[in-house]
Amino acid sequence: MSSKKHLVVLSAPSGAGKTTVARHLLATFPQLRFSVSATTRPMRDGEVNGRDYFFLQRDEFRDAIQRGDLIEYEEIFGNYYGTLRSSVSEAVQRGDFVVFDVDVKGAVSLRAAFPDDTLLMFVAPPSLDVLATRLRSRHTETEEQIHLRLARAEMEMGHQDQFDVVLVNDDLETTVRRAEELVREHVEGAPQQPSLFERD
Ligand code: ADP
Ligand code: 5GP
Repeated sequence: MSSKKHLVVLSAPSGAGKTTVARHLLATFPQLRFSVSATTRPMRDGEVNGRDYFFLQRDEFRDAIQRGDLIEYEEIFGNYYGTLRSSVSEAVQRGDFVVFDVDVKGAVSLRAAFPDDTLLMFVAPPSLDVLATRLRSRHTETEEQIHLRLARAEMEMGHQDQFDVVLVNDDLETTVRRAEELVREHVEGAPQQPSLFERD
């Protein structure tokens, strides 16, 4: 029985470390592609349109909804975020594997859309205090935005049991190693240990 999954979905409260984990997986596994979402939030320093997100105006996003271009979308922190049908279908048709960075509701929607093909990973912070420290050290949000993200984090933590795996991101090295093992097991479909015959 093959356990191969083509869609690796990472979710976490904002600041828990899923972008860091996603970047590591993409750098480690050449067959993985990132699903570039559409969003109406402003671009952060260092972000690139078309690489990190497709940055749209609100009316452009609404048009995309109307045309049925999105597999799922949510309004988060006052902005729209959504998964483009094109980024998933083109990659899957090529036989590539796709990594998603979406919120918990997006993850559940992706599982509903592709029930047999998703591996859902939840990246949890060791505590809400640590989450607050990481968000502040990232220097990408105002204090008001950080408060909004922390308030939402509690809701997101309550959805952990809907995921296949929960990675508590305390030590980053341990977290990325475990994420790599999971991709080897479920995406590459390779056994983690040599079989008895191979060891002979
Ligand atoms: P997310 O994508 O979930 O919002 P990020 O990957 O941007 O989170 O991580 C938030 C901040 O925390 C970044 O500055 C990142 O470098 C840092 N970080 C991530 N994982 C750890 C860890 N295990 N220990 C300490 N800092 C971390
Ligand atoms: P950020 O503004 O920090 O990049 O993302 C805020 C939240 O939006 C994160 O939880 C992120 O995972 C989520 N997000 C990003 N893209 C999508 C998407 O396409 N769909 C959904 N549902 N959430 C997304």
